[in-house]
Formats: sequence, structure tokens, C-alpha cells
Amino acid sequence: MNNWLSLEEFKRKYGHMVRDLWVPRVTAITEIIAKPGLLRYYAAQENFAAAQRKLRNSANWGTLTHQTIEEILKGRKPEIHPKILPSIEAFLEWKSQHQIVVLDPEHDIEKFVFHPEQLYAGRMDALVEIDGVLGILDIKTGTGIWEEYFLQTAAYLEAYNNLVPEKERAKTRWIIRVDQYQECLICGAKRREKSGEGVIKGGNPFCQHQFSEPKGFVEFRELPDFENDISAFLHAKNLWEWYHREYLKQIKNYPKFK
Ligand SMILES: [Zn+2]
Repeated sequence: MNNWLSLEEFKRKYGHMVRDLWVPRVTAITEIIAKPGLLRYYAAQENFAAAQRKLRNSANWGTLTHQTIEEILKGRKPEIHPKILPSIEAFLEWKSQHQIVVLDPEHDIEKFVFHPEQLYAGRMDALVEIDGVLGILDIKTGTGIWEEYFLQTAAYLEAYNNLVPEKERAKTRWIIRVDQYQECLICGAKRREKSGEGVIKGGNPFCQHQFSEPKGFVEFRELPDFENDISAFLHAKNLWEWYHREYLKQIKNYPKFK
């Protein structure tokens, strides 16, 4: 199960070279957590190929939304694809209600961080000041907020704060989730079109749905338990290293498994 890649493929897929050192990527490490949501998703699909096609389509939708929001945070005015307009409008509405400051637009979006003691690296979505507080902002376009985001954002915060003087440290982490759906005017069922075909959830299954125009919405959350989350991330990293020990033993200068 975990030895079908060549060493070079393994290194490319799961990590970054930082100077002369190979270190695992934050999102590779958090993949060690099972995703019950994803299993449920596959179980509900007709077949594996169709399920993957849909996931790809919704990933494209998500990537486009994600990129557009990052451009806006950089202070640019990107062209907005009509399909994601409701989401972007909801984001802009949210943004207008807060004081958002990106101190260094060229470097603070998709910011690369590396932890030289804990030995991991990754790219956070944004280092940003929201209403006067500096923090790590993670932008999500899926249908829910999953546990692994807690660990990812903790890892980024820890790596960033380790690199800067105390007065420049980030104080918190947030997740902003941007999504869009149509709502049935009769029963309230919600229909999402992200995967190319509509998926209907909730409401009355016998209703002759009359769907509204798509509307966007934003869920914005601060993640409160940094200490718990960073501890869990570092434990996940240990587990990840154990799972991939046969590869890691072959990586020169990787401090474990020598
Ligand atoms: Zn209905």
C-alpha cells in the first residue's frame, strides 16, 4: 500500500526541498486522517469513475473560486467567471463588513512557511489582518469544515510564528468557507451545481421543487484551540513518519530513522 512509488516520486508527491533538506508537506501529513465524509460520498455514487469525474469538476469550481478570492485579497480586480459570481459576491459582501488588511500582498498570499526544528513545510492561503488581528486565513470551497483544516492551520501558524520576532507573530486562525446553492422556494431543499450536475439535499423529497437563482454564502469561523491542534498535528506527523518509514530511511539527512 505504501511502497508503490519510487523514492523520487515519493519525495515529489509528499514534500518540499528547503535548501538542501527534504521535508514533508503539511497537507501530505494531514492526509493521514481518515475522511469519513469522502467515504460516504463514494458510497452514494453510482460508480467510481463517475464519482471521480464529479470530484474533479467540483475541484475545478473550487480552484477557480479560491484563485479569484486570493486575487481580490492581493488587491487586484480579477475577471469573475459567471458561474462563481454568487460565491464571489457573497465573499465581497463579507469583506465589506470587516477591516481586511494584507500587509505584503506579494508575499502574504500563498505564503510558503518552513519549520526548521519540527521539519515540515507548506503553503498557507493568506496571512492577513482582520479587524486589527493578524492571523492565518484558510479559504475553503467544500461543503463542510473538516477536521484536517484545524491541523493544517495550526501547522502554518506555528511555522510562521517560529520564523518572526515576537511582536510580528500571528495571533489566531480563521476558516472562511465560500459556497453557493439554489434553494427550493416551496420546501427549502438546497441544490448545488458544483459538480456539473445538481445535487439536492434536505427538503421534502416529494416536492415539485422550484429552485431560486443560485445564491452565495460565507461561513467564517475562528479556530480556538491552537495548543490542542498543534499537538495533534505533531502527533499526526509522527504517525505519518512511521507509516512511511521505509521511504524516510532512504532520504539522506532526514533526521528520523537513521
Ligand atoms: Zn421543494
